[in-house]
Amino acid sequence: MSTFTSPLLQTLAQVNDEDDAAISVYLDLDPSVTPTRADMASRVRSAVDRLETASDRRSGEAKRTFEDGVDRVHRFLGEQDLRGGAEVHGAALFALGCEVFEALPLWRSAGDAVTAGGRFALRRLAVEDARTSQVLLVIAGRELGRVVLLRDGRLIELVDADQEIENRHHQGGWAASKLQRYTDRQAELHLAAVVEIAERTHARLGQPPIVLAGTAENSAVMRGRLGQEASAAVIGELPNMRDFDEASVLRELTAIAERHDGERERAMLERHAEQLGRGELAEGLDAALIAISESRVQTLLLAPGPGPEVCACPQCGRLSDRVQVCPLDGSFIVVEPMGLELAVAEAISRGADVWQLSDANRDALAASAGVGVITRY
Ligand SMILES: [Zn+2]
Repeated sequence: MSTFTSPLLQTLAQVNDEDDAAISVYLDLDPSVTPTRADMASRVRSAVDRLETASDRRSGEAKRTFEDGVDRVHRFLGEQDLRGGAEVHGAALFALGCEVFEALPLWRSAGDAVTAGGRFALRRLAVEDARTSQVLLVIAGRELGRVVLLRDGRLIELVDADQEIENRHHQGGWAASKLQRYTDRQAELHLAAVVEIAERTHARLGQPPIVLAGTAENSAVMRGRLGQEASAAVIGELPNMRDFDEASVLRELTAIAERHDGERERAMLERHAEQLGRGELAEGLDAALIAISESRVQTLLLAPGPGPEVCACPQCGRLSDRVQVCPLDGSFIVVEPMGLELAVAEAISRGADVWQLSDANRDALAASAGVGVITRY
């Protein structure tokens, strides 16, 4: 989970409103779906209309809380042009009365959806959040050093290491070396300085995946010099990038990030299968849901699509795949109107990540109705 949204996801997942007034809105702002501000306005209007229709069932305090939330959403969407540049492809809004309001830009669209219930609908946000959205690119050559961050679909130049290293040389009384041809020793010192700057930046950013760019020889030198943590974070290498324009850098890094996510997914499915194989986890939806309720889940795995029916105990919150008497308190476990979203909120609030399988692996969890878990122990 990204270090930026994870605390916020946890906070939102803990909201549990008796009046079912927790409002979640996802907007598809992809330029192909929402090309103009007017398109967005009409999309927003229909989203808010759907919410207001839903509020007719409520009365008294519950209705007021709900309408305060709708108001917040309405006002925010009326005042802001969420499209804000090509990199914003979606938005997620969460409101509960006057107490909670969060608006988050998404750089990959999560589609359109509006829900109101006891919990926030966090699945789409959590799924986006779990994918690799940050990559640190370290470009280094004999006389070249740059550290660039791919974040949310765009490139941000973090450090022009050349400048920093040059200043350092001045300070160290090396001014004359600038005029000389770089010797091997100097090239080595230069690479070491770039690596040092990259490592510092990597730690400061919460250790995102790293891609090294340079000749095979320079990349090998960089790999050798990186410390354990940064070295373990390297997910790919690119050739010397002198001739790359921004669009091709973006394309290459995005492809590496996607490949990396494919590998992560394979590893997760393997671990899931191993846990089942060793009998640490029973097969089936019910076992997965119980593991969530018992706070044993590290990663909740979901097949794409709406997901199965989920039941919950109104007394203690225990999840189940069927209507039955709760083994813990004797209450009737009943069908949960929010369905799988409740399981997602429960899992996140208990510290789990949420991973949605790619289409290629969509049937991997068929034996447990498209819901699987990796447990902590
Ligand atoms: Zn119960």
